[in-house]
Amino acid sequence: MHNEDWVNRTRVAVWHPCTQMKHLEETPPLPIARGEGAWLIDHQGQRYLDAISSWWVNLFGHANPSINAALMDQLGRIEHVMLAGCTHAPVVELSERLSSLSGLGHAFYGSDGASATEIALKMSFHCWRNRGRPQKTGYVSLQNGYHGETLGALSVTDVALFKDVYAPLLRQSHQVMSPDWRLAEPEESAEAYAWRAIGQMEDFLAECADTTAAVIVEPLVQGAAGMAMYHPIYLSRLRELCDKYEVHLIADEIAVGFGRTGTMFACEQAGIRPDFLCLSKGITGGYLPLSCVLTRDEIYAAFYADATARGFLHSHSYTGNPLACRAALAVLDIFAADEVLASNRVKSVRFNQLLDPIKAHPRVSHFRNIGMIWAFDVNHTEAGFSTRFHQQALARGLFIRPIGNTVYFMPPYVIEEAEMRLMAEVTLELLQAV
Ligand SMILES: *Cc1c(COP(=O)(O)O)cnc(C)c1O
Repeated sequence: MHNEDWVNRTRVAVWHPCTQMKHLEETPPLPIARGEGAWLIDHQGQRYLDAISSWWVNLFGHANPSINAALMDQLGRIEHVMLAGCTHAPVVELSERLSSLSGLGHAFYGSDGASATEIALKMSFHCWRNRGRPQKTGYVSLQNGYHGETLGALSVTDVALFKDVYAPLLRQSHQVMSPDWRLAEPEESAEAYAWRAIGQMEDFLAECADTTAAVIVEPLVQGAAGMAMYHPIYLSRLRELCDKYEVHLIADEIAVGFGRTGTMFACEQAGIRPDFLCLSKGITGGYLPLSCVLTRDEIYAAFYADATARGFLHSHSYTGNPLACRAALAVLDIFAADEVLASNRVKSVRFNQLLDPIKAHPRVSHFRNIGMIWAFDVNHTEAGFSTRFHQQALARGLFIRPIGNTVYFMPPYVIEEAEMRLMAEVTLELLQAV
């Protein structure tokens, strides 16, 4: 079958996510036959460098031999068993390892990022209720924040395009000023701006802590907002405020966890431990849907009782799926064996050098980088910039999808020098062309 046949069939049979289906008439989806390292390959053998890790999930390349081998082995043992009333080695081992990496514990599993958000929101409320504070039902999040698109998660998300239509279905929540450094005054440092932003959070908590269960934030990088980055002092101060005002801190590390910002978890850069840590995306190296919420012992203790209803009775059919957990274990093995964080630091320095001409380009502003994320905003763009950039990059063998006028790179960690060079060269060319 050729590319075109798959495109025609997908238009009829598949309802694609985050897509106005009518637009597929003009911009057909890419029919992928297979993958290899950082590359996606279509049915005609055309290769595209996956500069955004297939929506930020892939860490160690497509068809990674060691993750494949772990899954083959697991397939011969047990593919799935329910986690209520049963347990299995992959879920126990993964939970132990996530605990020792994060300093939190009691891993509760879902399948997608949004379900991790739902779990954390519900647990926070239920924890306060079990402690005799049922009036703590509210949530506060950051402007332009993104936490997923199920109804609860969408309530704390602040992206108008995804949220506005569904407003009548959503619970009220509060959004306060984002520490996104791009929004600072010209002479204001990232740190000064973070201090200004945390002031608004404190004002809110001082007034509303009695009815607020939790603050939810994306640590260091607001991904869907266009890779908006901010100073870690915001998180250190937020931790202090959450303690002072008795409000839970939910760290949504769904996008930034597993080394994306240079440390295993972004919170480490602020020297803090959240009350809830939400993980997904990179957790299985982009292989299988899995998400996880880790919590502090005190929170777990609030549910531990004789009465069934005091427990956290939330469930999903595929909770703790053995194949997904096994993929996650294989990912953690690679982190340890290949000293991934150290090797990423070297790659990051090299890619920054390759991006020097882009940094200096007159159309580029707010060039920013943390760990394995690079982003910049493009000036003087016309409507449809992002789609045109995407399409013209494809024609040059690069798979990249700007968010509005923000172009970003979030490559798999297996990216090599020649591939980094291709990303830089094609992008520089497109800054003249699009
Ligand atoms: C992607 C993302 C989510 C939602 O995860 P899904 O698996 O798409 O439901 C939540 N929070 C953040 C920060 C994300 O980047």
